[in-house]
Amino acid sequence: MVCNNAQVGITCQSNIHINGRNQGFPAEHSPKHHTASATDLIIERSQTPKARPDQTNLVFGTVFTDHMLTIEWTSTGGWEEPHIKPFDNLSLHPACSAMHYAVQLFEGMKAYRDADDKVRLFRPMLNMNRMAKSAQRACLPAFDKAELVECIKKLIQLDQEWVPKSNSASLYIRPTFLGTEPSLGVKKPSRALLYVILSPVGSYFSTGAKPVSLWADSKYVRAWKGGTGDCKMGGNYGASIYAQYEAVDYGCQQVLWLYGDDHQITEVGTMNVFLFWTNEEGEEELSTPPLDGVILPGITRQSILELTRKWGEFKVCERHLTMADLCCALKERRVKEMFGSGTACVVSPVGRILYQGENLHIPCQEDGPQLASRLMKELTDIQVRSLTHRHTHPRGTHSGFTTSVFR
Ligand SMILES: *Cc1c(COP(=O)(O)O)cnc(C)c1O
Repeated sequence: MVCNNAQVGITCQSNIHINGRNQGFPAEHSPKHHTASATDLIIERSQTPKARPDQTNLVFGTVFTDHMLTIEWTSTGGWEEPHIKPFDNLSLHPACSAMHYAVQLFEGMKAYRDADDKVRLFRPMLNMNRMAKSAQRACLPAFDKAELVECIKKLIQLDQEWVPKSNSASLYIRPTFLGTEPSLGVKKPSRALLYVILSPVGSYFSTGAKPVSLWADSKYVRAWKGGTGDCKMGGNYGASIYAQYEAVDYGCQQVLWLYGDDHQITEVGTMNVFLFWTNEEGEEELSTPPLDGVILPGITRQSILELTRKWGEFKVCERHLTMADLCCALKERRVKEMFGSGTACVVSPVGRILYQGENLHIPCQEDGPQLASRLMKELTDIQVRSLTHRHTHPRGTHSGFTTSVFR
């Protein structure tokens, strides 16, 4: 083990132990040896650090930091030691199953610099849990979620100067998991590569917090029951790009994904969707579609549900919403706001929906979308300014990280 942690200002814990490496895997497929542990991290520092970009006009996902985390797995040897090494291209077998059969998944999370200049992660274990579920669906091996967070923290610490010192910018974290089976058989991969790259990002949408316009059409379907829409697997997104360009052809910015003959409203682009309205019973209600298999279980979605339920100011509901429900509510002036939610943008108000040749104008309150703005403020306060819900991650203190969590 090479533990040059002194360079990154952390102490090396020797007592972190690995559990649950075989979770979800039948015994005969279990790794035989050890699994990845942050204590086994091998760190190779970059000899050629890059110039850091101007933080004011960062384009999402175009610039990467100096280092990356890689961890390899084989069915015979289990997890190898995690490596942090200079950011570089990968070398993959041309038959690699990620390339041919999309045996692949990813996560998206952010590190924020708070008012005290500390770097924070927002509810990282929720990302790890979701990643583990995606891995199970993709027949990729189970991994130790807490250890992966520790490894990610060490990576961020090494590249901490890349965490923007700004309110609107942050460091986007992209864990990626690939099947690297070097053969063309359609089967469970016998090799896999988990890696994490970091990218400083500004605001996701070029329009900033301005309301987005949506194209709602049942021509393309993002996800279906029994499919993989509830997992962050690359194939879901690659297949959505074509529809996204059609939306642009219709003069809209994003796709409002519909599902079923009754045109259920499911997601906005790559965001979950919320409707703030007066429901059919005359009650003020915040609604979002339930996790019925076609919805990606967003961490921002979950956080908004938890936060607004705690406020207790209006009804908060996970329910199906159809275009007919929306059209009827618009006609009766029962819609207050509609917005998308996700890590990249936090919340993104919806201003217009093109549906069956008609432009539906989604109201905002007088001085902008009040609930969306309030949620944006509350969530970013937790992420960046740590005003509320301050909670120190049990393992985070020694590393200089505090992790914002709810409860
Ligand atoms: C990632 C993602 C979201 C948002 O999830 P967060 O955890 O809130 O970032 C919503 N919908 C889709 C399709 C996604 O891929």
